[in-house]
Amino acid sequence: MSDCIFCKIIGGEIPSTKVYEDDKCLAFRDLDPKAPTHILVIPKEHIQSVDAVTLENSGVVAHIFTVIPGIMRELGITGGYRVITNIGADAGQTVPHLHFHVLGGKEMGWSPAG
Ligand code: 5GP
Ligand code: ZN
Repeated sequence: MSDCIFCKIIGGEIPSTKVYEDDKCLAFRDLDPKAPTHILVIPKEHIQSVDAVTLENSGVVAHIFTVIPGIMRELGITGGYRVITNIGADAGQTVPHLHFHVLGGKEMGWSPAG
């Protein structure tokens, strides 16, 4: 999608601090980190959110979950981490390209309302 920030990051039009990349997904540091380590993992295919995941495109979601543990190990996160994905306005999704926030490096409380 030409006007999507994350598609532009994938295409290299917008710079990012990449921590992992393969043919299906990209992981980079969040611009406004909410934890000492806060990365975003995104599919290279433009999918709006979990709401747009189907049997046809869900393979990349499984793939992303197989690469997250290695990324966090590589970044030295040993005490655990959290994976979050916001879906739509009420959840605070601001970028309409599926992304998994992966947060670690501190002890986190549990506040589903943020
Ligand atoms: P959402 O609120 O949609 O779940 O998360 C979007 C995330 O993308 C936010 O945490 C925000 O800081 C991050 N973000 C927005 N624009 C950029 C950008 O241009 N570069 C990077 N690295 N992160 C971005
Ligand atoms: Zn996109």
